[in-house]
Amino acid sequence: MEADGFEKKDWDGPADVYVLNTCSVTDNADKECRQIVRRIRRRSPESMVVVTGCYAQLKPEEIAGMDGVDLVLGAAEKFNITKHIQELVKGDSAKICSCDVEEVHGFNAAFSLNDRTRAFLKVQDGCDYNCSFCTIPMARGNSRSNTIAGVQKDLEQLAANGVQEVVLTGVNLGDFGKGNDGGKQKEQDFFELIQHIDQNSNIPRFRISSIEPNLLSSEIIDFVADSQRFMPHFHIPLQSGSNEILGKMRRRYRRELYAERVQQIKARMPHCCIGVDVIVGFPGETEELFMETYHFLHELDVSYFHVFTYSERSNTLAATMENPVPVNIRHERNRILRNLSYQKMRYFTEQHHGQTRPVLFEETRKNNMIEGYTDNYIRVETPVREEWVNRIVDWELR
Ligand code: SF4
Repeated sequence: MEADGFEKKDWDGPADVYVLNTCSVTDNADKECRQIVRRIRRRSPESMVVVTGCYAQLKPEEIAGMDGVDLVLGAAEKFNITKHIQELVKGDSAKICSCDVEEVHGFNAAFSLNDRTRAFLKVQDGCDYNCSFCTIPMARGNSRSNTIAGVQKDLEQLAANGVQEVVLTGVNLGDFGKGNDGGKQKEQDFFELIQHIDQNSNIPRFRISSIEPNLLSSEIIDFVADSQRFMPHFHIPLQSGSNEILGKMRRRYRRELYAERVQQIKARMPHCCIGVDVIVGFPGETEELFMETYHFLHELDVSYFHVFTYSERSNTLAATMENPVPVNIRHERNRILRNLSYQKMRYFTEQHHGQTRPVLFEETRKNNMIEGYTDNYIRVETPVREEWVNRIVDWELR
């Protein structure tokens, strides 16, 4: 947008155009979008409001019906955003520019760069799996990817900006390698990508954002263990520790495979940080099945969880399943697992007290403090020292 003459403004200041890039993973994300539109309308009734992203692809009419929305852009059209804004006239009814998700092809490279230190680089988009609770394939389309040569070009640009750490991201990152034609054939694969990056990039640090357990092969684990650039840190969605629930979720692994992956990682990298996604309150999750998840996670040598409370999403198989869990029990289970996650994180951090590990300090300063992360994702905060900003410093953990 800046290349087309737009200027980025602070959220708190006035702006001619507000762009909301929405999520739709939970119904909370939908609610938040509605609240923000109302807030903009109250504060700045003359501004244009454009809504795009997953919620806009899934429910364009619902969004167009909100007071104050001028334009709704689906998954493909969001990449022509400036053209659409320039054609827009405030006061007309909301315009919808969207298409069926089957027509969403093509890979659009993107990275986010909040400060110089760390960038999130999209290398893959869409998903060919059909987990019964998930709307993402309906919002983002088939699995497709950048090429390795394309990723290399993005990395050169990031390196020229002084970026020190790149997080590789995708909707189903481990499925990297399917081309732009929406086909099922892999032309390249994720293992080839990370090997290429390791040998050809001079950016010192890389992380793998989130990878399905069935796609996290032994060769990837061994590779990360031997690499100087790929950090000892994995984020692996589990979703449930009960095989019965995993079956209903249509996940492509069982808990035994998950436990085996964690063991393999820890055998090669005892210091490795492992994050887990887990959903509580899926239909049919009895107290007994929830406790299976609890005990499974309790025994597992992992470092923290992201806990999601299940919410019904329209047009999913899970929303039609019997035995929904009462909402108050879903929230209670969320609280129980968040407590366990807190204990795991504390234990993981304490295990490293007294060790010296490399910390990459970030550019952003708050109250004269800077923060950074160790290779294995332990957060460190210290008073600002200019010579440490955007640098990797050996740091004794206390
Ligand atoms: S793998 Fe992830 S994105 Fe794909 S359907 Fe399952 S939960 Fe959704």
